[in-house]
Amino acid sequence: RKCDVKGFFIRNAFVLFTISAVIIGIILGFTLRPYKMSYRNVKFFSFPGELLMRMLQMLVLPLLISSLITGVAALDSRASGKMGMRAVVYYTTTTIIAVIIGIVMVLIIHPGKGLKDEFEESQKMDQISPADAFLDLIRNMFPPNLVEYKTQYVDRTVKMKIIVNDTLFTLNGSQEITEKETIPVPGSVNGINALGLVVFSLCFGLIVGNMKEQGQPLRDFFDCLNEAIMRLVAIIMWYAPIGILFLIAGKIVEMNDITAMGSQLGMYTVTVICGLLIHATIVLPTLYFIITRKNPFVFIAGLLQALVTALGTSSSSATLPITFKCLEENNKVDKRVTRFVLPVGATINMDGTALYEALAAIFIAQVNDYDLNFGQILTISITATAASIGAAGIPQAGLVTMIIVLTSVGLPTDDISLIIAVDWFLDRFRTVTNVLGDSIGAGIVEHLSRHELQKTDAELGNSALEEADKKPYQL
Ligand code: ASP
Repeated sequence: RKCDVKGFFIRNAFVLFTISAVIIGIILGFTLRPYKMSYRNVKFFSFPGELLMRMLQMLVLPLLISSLITGVAALDSRASGKMGMRAVVYYTTTTIIAVIIGIVMVLIIHPGKGLKDEFEESQKMDQISPADAFLDLIRNMFPPNLVEYKTQYVDRTVKMKIIVNDTLFTLNGSQEITEKETIPVPGSVNGINALGLVVFSLCFGLIVGNMKEQGQPLRDFFDCLNEAIMRLVAIIMWYAPIGILFLIAGKIVEMNDITAMGSQLGMYTVTVICGLLIHATIVLPTLYFIITRKNPFVFIAGLLQALVTALGTSSSSATLPITFKCLEENNKVDKRVTRFVLPVGATINMDGTALYEALAAIFIAQVNDYDLNFGQILTISITATAASIGAAGIPQAGLVTMIIVLTSVGLPTDDISLIIAVDWFLDRFRTVTNVLGDSIGAGIVEHLSRHELQKTDAELGNSALEEADKKPYQL
C-alpha cells in the first residue's frame, strides 16, 4: 500500500510539482503585491521565470527542424500526405468552430456598450491593408535566410485609449494622445521565422524521406539531433516548476489593479474566458471522443504539465518541448505523428487566438457603437482565422495580428489599446487552448492514421525510427 503511494508520487511528480508551483506562485505574488516593488526589483524577482522562458525558447529552433524532418521522413510520401491532409482538416475545422464560438459569445453577452458620446470618433490611421497582411503571411513562408530572421517593424502612430470604470480615457486624460510605436511584424518567434522553418522542414523531410538509402545519413543525423534535444528537455522539465512559480508570482506582483478594471472590461474578460472554456472543455474533448472513442479527459490529464507551462509562459512555442514530452511519454502518441503534426500545429493552429481575435474585434465594434452587418461578421471570421495562422506562438502575438482583423472591417486599430490592460491575462488562457488544440489534434490524427502507420511499420521494418519509438495500436 505504502509502495503504491510512493509509486503514484513518482509517476506524477512533475504534475504535482507544477501544480504546487502555480499555487505557491499565486500565494507568493499576492503576498508580495502590497509591498509595491520597483520595476527593477520585479525583474530581479522574476528572473528564474525569465530563465525558463529562455531555456525553452532556445530549444525551439533545433526541435522544430529535427522533429519535422524526421517525422515526415519516417513516413512514405503518401502516408505523410494523408496525415498532413487530416491535420489540415482538423486545424481548419476546429479553428472555424472556435471563431464561431467567439462570435456567438460576444453577440449574446454583448460586453461592449457604446461610449461614443464621451469620445470623438477616432480618426482613421495609416493602416495595413488586409491584402498586404496576407502577402506578408505568404512571404514569411519563404524566408530568404532560414536561420536569420530580421523582424520587420511597422511604424504606426497609435492613440492610447483605455477603459477605466466604463469610461473611455486617453492616457493622460486629454482627448487625444498619440504615441509613436513600432510593432513587430507577426510571425516571428524571437527572431525565428517559425512559419518559414515549418514550410522548409516539411519539404526537406519529404525529399529526405524519398531518398531511400542515400538519405539515411541525414535521417540518422536529424533523428539523433531530435533525441538529444528531447534529453535536454527532460532536464529542463525539472526546472520548469521553479520557473513557472516565479513567472506567475512576478506577473501578479506587477499587474495593474484589477479593481480599476470596470464592468465593461470585466464582462469582456468573462466572455473571453467562457468562450475559451467551451472550446477547451466541451468542443475539443467531444471531437476527440467522437473520433477515437477514447476518454478525452484521460488524454487531457496526461497533458497537464504542458497546459500549466502554457499558462505560465503565455507561449505555445516555448511550451512545445514540454508538449512533446507529455504526448509521447504520458499519452504514448506515436512519435512519427507528434514530430510531424505538433510543430505545424504550434505554428499555425491557434484556436484560442482565433476565438479571441473575432471576439475582441466585435467587442471593439460594440464599444464604438458600430453596427456590423452579416458580411462584416463573416469578414471578421475569415480574417481572424488568417490572423491566428500568422500569429507566432509568443506572448501577446494575437494582439498584434488583430490589426488585420480590425482593418478588414474598417475598425480603428488604435482601439487595440482598449483591451491591452487585460490581454496579458487572457493571453495565458488562449495559449492553454492553443496547446490543447494542437495536442488533441495529434491524438486524433494518430487515430485516423493508424492504418498507414501500421503499413509503414510493415514496409520499412524499423529503419526509420527506433523500435522504442513505436507503440502497438489497439483499436
Ligand atoms: N500567446 C499565444 C500563443 O503563444 C498567441 C497569442 O497571443 O494568442 O499561443
